[in-house]
Amino acid sequence: MAVREGNLEAPTRHPLDWQGADFYSEAKVFGELERVFDICHGCRRCVNLCTAFPKLFDLIDEGKTGELDGVEKSKYWEVVDRCYLCDTCYMTKCPYVPPHEWNVDFPHLMLRAKAVKFKQGGTSARDKLLSSTDALGKLATIPVVVQFVNAANKMPVARGVMDKVLGVHKDRVLPEYASAKFRANAKPDASFPVKDGKNTPGKVAIFATCYVNYNEPGIGHDLLKVLAHNEIPAIVVEKEACCGMPKLELGDLDAVAKLKEINIPVLARLAREGYAILTAIPSCTLMFKQELPLMFPQDADVKAVQAAMFDPFEYLVMRYKEGLLKTDFKAPLGKVAYHIPCHSRVQNVGQKTREMLELVPDTQVHTVERCSGHDGTWGVKSEFFDQSMKIGRPVFRLMAEKDPDYLSSDCPIAGRHIQQGIGESRAQKEHPLALLRIAYGL
Ligand code: SF4
Ligand code: SF4
Repeated sequence: MAVREGNLEAPTRHPLDWQGADFYSEAKVFGELERVFDICHGCRRCVNLCTAFPKLFDLIDEGKTGELDGVEKSKYWEVVDRCYLCDTCYMTKCPYVPPHEWNVDFPHLMLRAKAVKFKQGGTSARDKLLSSTDALGKLATIPVVVQFVNAANKMPVARGVMDKVLGVHKDRVLPEYASAKFRANAKPDASFPVKDGKNTPGKVAIFATCYVNYNEPGIGHDLLKVLAHNEIPAIVVEKEACCGMPKLELGDLDAVAKLKEINIPVLARLAREGYAILTAIPSCTLMFKQELPLMFPQDADVKAVQAAMFDPFEYLVMRYKEGLLKTDFKAPLGKVAYHIPCHSRVQNVGQKTREMLELVPDTQVHTVERCSGHDGTWGVKSEFFDQSMKIGRPVFRLMAEKDPDYLSSDCPIAGRHIQQGIGESRAQKEHPLALLRIAYGL
């Protein structure tokens, strides 16, 4: 039977068989890498998405045979290490994803290879440290320590040492740690009457996330202000740990499972009590919407959380369409250069942040939908910083080209990376939730 060139059906994703007998078998993983790399060699559609594919194609083209058999297997790791699991190749390019019989899921194959490397002890201490966002945040936000960490992050001498000893690139602009954490200082207002919409629960529980809690608490406070302005009762989830995305990206799936055991029981109870659960960081939202359900396909609690989890703008636009959101905007936003991060794109909810911001009068939103090349920690690492800036270059150019008043991305890490890539600019960087708060005059 002839093999079809591409899928006619909608893509599906197989559960991640991480507890299966063969998952950590190096021989099986290398067999699968060989199979998929060979398909990619014949296809090459993804050549400009990131540096993983160009690396693969260079290895093949510069090998003895010009085919995959001319590439030493040990070199495969150079491809694996360049993938930061943004999912873009799977979601936007690949015609061979399931249900196509070739069954290509490049990001999840990279994840499996990373998991094998982690199990074999091949993951560096630096990578383990950078993925411990909760522990780092707790340590760095201790009074006095926080001032020291923030000052050291800006000192060239300290950054030179960090580059050499830790492998954190000296030129990467790092986020500051906040002296007042979000969870300890949040003032959610749960006093409003619950008004359920046709598709939206009328009360909200906020999963703070490590980044909002420790680095940019203002994003969480802005979300609370927007919810209160719209008389939507809100609470902050009483207990939470890291969502697990940084550990997933490292291939440390046992750590992901441990974090899931902390978060899911609390969140599942809230989901069953009728709360919409909102997280303001797209990667964390995606963890609950996609990755945990693929790791735990039979877990009813994980499914309940998946169904209750919303991107904030997905929720707000749905409320607007249900006639349950105020549009009494007081301040125009002018020209907004808005970037859609990969982990928002792959949620498949459409461009909800753009739709919301375009409701603000006298506001022009210039939307850039392309990978900025940072990822959570990948673009911070000494060996990948230059590649990260190179991948981001078209995004930097597009974001700056209309002389915007604001630069904004749903992912605050991408937002900072874009600001660094643009350099000098009169544009102010604000998270979209801050823009909404400004537009409401709050
Ligand atoms: S998931 Fe993203 S980083 Fe990884 S190979 Fe695909 S496009 Fe590149
Ligand atoms: S992931 Fe799919 S689209 Fe991309 S190069 Fe491989 S086969 Fe082609």
